[in-house]
Amino acid sequence: MNPVRKKSPQGDWSTAPGRAFSYGMNLDDPIQQLKSVGPKNVARLGRLGIKTIRHLLWHLPIRYEDYSVVTPMAHIEAGQKVTVQGEVVKISSRYIFPRRMTVVNAIVEDDSGAVRAVWFNQPYIANTLAEGSKVSLAGKATLDAKGVYLSSPTYEKISETYTGNLTHTGRLVPIYPETEGVTSKYLRFLIQPLIDGLKLPDPLPGSIRKELNLPSLTEAIKTIHFPTETRETELAKERLAFDELLLFQLKALLERRKYNQLKSTPIAFDQGYIKTLLTKFPFELTKDQKVAAWEILKDLERSYPMNRLLEGDVGSGKTAVALVAAAQVAQKKVQTALLAPTEVLAVQHFKTLNQLIGTIPLTIGVLTSTVAHINKETLSKMDFKKRTLAGEIDIIIGTQAILQKDVCFNHLGLVIIDEQHRFGIDQRATLAKGGRSQFDSVPHLLSMTATPIPRTLALTIFGDLDISIIKEKPKDRKKIITEIVSPSQRSRAHQFIRQEIGRGRQVFVICPRIENQTEFKMKPGKVGSQMKLAWADVKAVQEEYRKLKEEVFPDLRIAMLHGKMKPKEKQQVMREFKDGWHDILVATSVVEVGVDVPNASIMVIEGAERFGLAQLHQFRGRVGRAEHQSHCLLFPTSGDAHHNQRLKALVLSDDGFSLAEKDMALRGPGEFFGIKQSGMPDLAMAALANIELIKKARFQARLILKSDSRLEQYPLLRQHLERFQALRHFE
Ligand code: ADP
Ligand code: MG
Repeated sequence: MNPVRKKSPQGDWSTAPGRAFSYGMNLDDPIQQLKSVGPKNVARLGRLGIKTIRHLLWHLPIRYEDYSVVTPMAHIEAGQKVTVQGEVVKISSRYIFPRRMTVVNAIVEDDSGAVRAVWFNQPYIANTLAEGSKVSLAGKATLDAKGVYLSSPTYEKISETYTGNLTHTGRLVPIYPETEGVTSKYLRFLIQPLIDGLKLPDPLPGSIRKELNLPSLTEAIKTIHFPTETRETELAKERLAFDELLLFQLKALLERRKYNQLKSTPIAFDQGYIKTLLTKFPFELTKDQKVAAWEILKDLERSYPMNRLLEGDVGSGKTAVALVAAAQVAQKKVQTALLAPTEVLAVQHFKTLNQLIGTIPLTIGVLTSTVAHINKETLSKMDFKKRTLAGEIDIIIGTQAILQKDVCFNHLGLVIIDEQHRFGIDQRATLAKGGRSQFDSVPHLLSMTATPIPRTLALTIFGDLDISIIKEKPKDRKKIITEIVSPSQRSRAHQFIRQEIGRGRQVFVICPRIENQTEFKMKPGKVGSQMKLAWADVKAVQEEYRKLKEEVFPDLRIAMLHGKMKPKEKQQVMREFKDGWHDILVATSVVEVGVDVPNASIMVIEGAERFGLAQLHQFRGRVGRAEHQSHCLLFPTSGDAHHNQRLKALVLSDDGFSLAEKDMALRGPGEFFGIKQSGMPDLAMAALANIELIKKARFQARLILKSDSRLEQYPLLRQHLERFQALRHFE
């Protein structure tokens, strides 16, 4: 078969002066270019995402087996992982009929003694390792009645010209992510020859490499696959991670630059107006709220778009800050769109804002698939849209779907979006279209999140955003008492719940996530399994509801809420709960618990160990929203130590930011951000926890762009960046 030599895609390393390999192969050549990769293996490697030489070289070991010490055969002990080297003195293959299995038995000898080696169903080994050949074997020493032997050891022949450069034995042996038909041994077999002549053009300028003490790219790739000592792998990882981080930073900085060239409606900061506005609020803003509001109002004054993320724990009062911004925009006769993740939350935002405005003359509207209100008035969707287009509504609340579909604004100047970190320029421009606003004008963006992301980390992932953080909670808040309730203490907890309900309080019960979540994660594309999972969640809620209603609290009023209910039903249940018709609300974790029910004072989380720390903290934030002393009861299904570590952290701390850091340390940034499946390289992900390296990358990126904003002196880096920018966002 004649492998096709595809031309490498333009703008890649291979176009750079100097080829990747001394023998003229390019990094972007398909792997079938390699002699030992036939059609079957192309498919198999493809399953690991390996399609080109580059993919192969960047398929990094997950760990190393230390087979570096060669043990004299006389000293082998059962249970040890050893490398031995010697001569095959006897080898034979035998078919054992009853077991339908071929067994190869060998005896290998060195100066100190001899050892047996056994392989199953690999009859060809008897030919490969003929008697008299010199071999190096690595594997686990096992004991049977006849003594110690090596069971299916990895083998490689030592040739006459053997110089000590072994691939699979006698060294730190790389172990790779594998798949059926692709073993680590096969991968080493493919990678080793490439490593030998490797000469990669280095996108990182030598000066930076020197300054940061990082190895060259070639060195890093060589040593990460075939290190001579563990320390080398650390340096190599750091180098490769630095590359990723640098690209993140460059991309973010360039993105910012792009934003700064766009046009937005400048909204003058009228300090007198804002002062008066604040006197009409039902409370005084906390210092953090004031600072955040000030930062936003300053941004709004610019004629290029604001791009700001407002981070604050649940209950920290982000909505009030958003209102200040929207009010300032409204004073200039410009509109604001407030987008919530769900319709229930849209309606709630509407209510919250209506309560907050009191006597402030603002027109606030909400539009969902089921309701349309403007302040106290209910109207048809048609009329709502007409009045939006006429510019009669200052703040339009809804979900993204509705607003994108059929609402035209008169003059949209600000988009506030809840619980979504990014909202692209295109989306924003689409929203603004059709009204009076100029075609090329982009609304300012304020996105709000209750996921506390440590600032340095946010700088990497959201490097293109400005960030305001509200750390301080409104001061009249009581600390929520959090307790882990073991199965044996349940009835006492139930008594306590009953007692609180007797006092007029209400209770949330969050049902556990269904276990086979992992299966779902492995196949993110499979709609079917996702559906099944959603149904499994529903079943869990129904079961818990039945148990509580029939067995535990037959005398209390209990309602349930889950994702398979119609939006109307959900809204009704929520409204009823808020109005105090139900004592207990049983809900799935995915359902809209982002609701404000000040009278609820107990949050019960079933199967608490199945949730991430950040999410548990979010749930907890649903109570303690009024003056009542509130409680969060964690009901784990087991007393497993690892789980308890997370739950303990929750008991001890109510600071979302420190919990976020802990969560990240416990689960890794990938899990924490839910980006495991995003295709983000593992190294970059691991590097997200390396604050020092992030800082260095940010600093260097700034420096590079300052002197050379188009990366003209860094053609390789620029090509790298272009490829990186083409990767989709991981949110
Ligand atoms: P978030 O959206 O950040 O979770 P909200 O904006 O919904 O929080 O605020 C939670 C509750 O706290 C609301 O009932 C709000 O009216 C109230 N609140 C906000 N800021 C303050 C403040 N400075 N003092 C007292 N209560 C406040
Ligand atoms: Mg909120």
